[in-house]
Amino acid sequence: MPRIVRLRCAPAPVAHGTIVHMIAWPRHLGWWLAWALLSALACASLARNEMGQARDLFETDARIAHRLLSQSAVQHDAVLATLVLVQPGAADALGSDAATAPERLSAIYPQIRQVARRDGDTLWADPRDQAAEILSRATRRPVIAQFDWAQGRYRLLQAGLPSSFAITLDMRQLVPATTWPTPAGTHLASAWLELGGQRLVLQGVSGDPTSGCARAMEFRKHLAAPSQPFELVVQRRLAWAQLPLALMLGISLVLGLVLWALAFGLRQRQERARAEELLRLGQLGRLNTMGELAAGMAHELNQPLTAVMANTQAALRLLKDDPVDLPTATRAMDHASVQARRAADVIARLRRLLERPGTSTPNASVRLDDLARDVLHLLEPEFRAIQCQPRLDAPQAVNVTGDAVALSQIAHNLLMNAVHALAQVPAPERQLWVRVATEGTTVVLEVSDNGPGFTPEVAQRLFEPFFSTRPGGLGLGLSLCESLARGMGGELQADARAPRGACLRLTLRRAPEGAWA
Ligand code: ADP
Repeated sequence: MPRIVRLRCAPAPVAHGTIVHMIAWPRHLGWWLAWALLSALACASLARNEMGQARDLFETDARIAHRLLSQSAVQHDAVLATLVLVQPGAADALGSDAATAPERLSAIYPQIRQVARRDGDTLWADPRDQAAEILSRATRRPVIAQFDWAQGRYRLLQAGLPSSFAITLDMRQLVPATTWPTPAGTHLASAWLELGGQRLVLQGVSGDPTSGCARAMEFRKHLAAPSQPFELVVQRRLAWAQLPLALMLGISLVLGLVLWALAFGLRQRQERARAEELLRLGQLGRLNTMGELAAGMAHELNQPLTAVMANTQAALRLLKDDPVDLPTATRAMDHASVQARRAADVIARLRRLLERPGTSTPNASVRLDDLARDVLHLLEPEFRAIQCQPRLDAPQAVNVTGDAVALSQIAHNLLMNAVHALAQVPAPERQLWVRVATEGTTVVLEVSDNGPGFTPEVAQRLFEPFFSTRPGGLGLGLSLCESLARGMGGELQADARAPRGACLRLTLRRAPEGAWA
């Protein structure tokens, strides 16, 4: 029986920087990224929606403000036109003392603070009024004669015959506060009228309007009265606090919960699949348990052995008879022989079962590096339990002729033995290497560890059935692996590693190139 136990010291496997795979990727990283991405998308969409609504409201408010201011400006033109047109009546209405006019007109138009009149050949006291009248006469429309930006007033003058009129307007009263559409403070909005680089603030915000600002909106438009070409500017800054932060947080939490449930479900499924796979791999282990083996054998052997006993006893009895019934005794012995052969078949079948588990094609081409990866993945919980991450050195595809199930069984057993061995040394020292490589016409699968290793005496008996130094061990794993390796035309070797540890090396035939998948 080609059983190889070498007691030389195998060198520690060298880790290739680019080809050594750490088995444990940062777990959950993908889920966290997915959660962050989905949350960001959901929050961005909510914020976009909120900003869109805010923009619509802002546009509406700004347009209303513009319309009201334009209406007011147009009214000023109308008031002046009326005063000029109905000159005698207006003069009567205003009386010789124009100072009484504001009270009357202000009752209707609160923004009109003063009304002035120039009669006949008299001149305006202020040369700016004089210049404005000349311009008004030339353009036949009211003209702004003076500004007082500090007071927020301007003087609109309309030339007429025989009298010309001027009204002084309070810009802050152009639109009654009750109808102003953007109440101060509620929308963080500011509004002002601009002309010639000067501005009069109609509504302002206290503090720095850009601080804590998520989005700035602006509306600019000239009033619809050519005589008063002010530009209305309205700005609104949407504060971060005005975004639906609670809703965003809620959606992020819900998304987190959904993803967590998904991850949990998937993990459960993986665990189930892993358990099923382990079960499949352990189907031989199940047979290997002494109890089951004995129970199976007892069940299968009971019937033929009972028959053997009954037939031999009957033959004995017949042989002791006088006269001897030789033909019947011979028949009984024949029956006993048949039953004994049946018992031998049962044992042979059980032995075959031990040597050839599974139903897969025994001599197919198998990717040994992938198979090693799969088994390592399968055993991840065991590695986590002993706090040791195996290093896989499988730089290229390695194809082997063999039985995938048997190969998995071998890799599984070797790795589990390494896990058991490593459990005996302190956690920080534990190291486990798996190497899959092509060596000429053969391929090797090496499982090495820096556990306690074995003594020369133990090494001599490693592959003996039922030999075990492990408490609770059956001692069938390595002998089974060896049988499986031989069944595929390969061999299994055990080496001691320096300064300590074990290296189990499976050598197999390389698959012919045409057979590669
Ligand atoms: P079991 O694991 O049930 O003991 P095995 O046939 O798998 O049966 O192993 C037989 C014995 O070989 C183990 O009890 C142990 O003494 C030894 N052995 C196997 N693998 C290793 C290893 N990696 N390091 C040290 N000893 C080992």
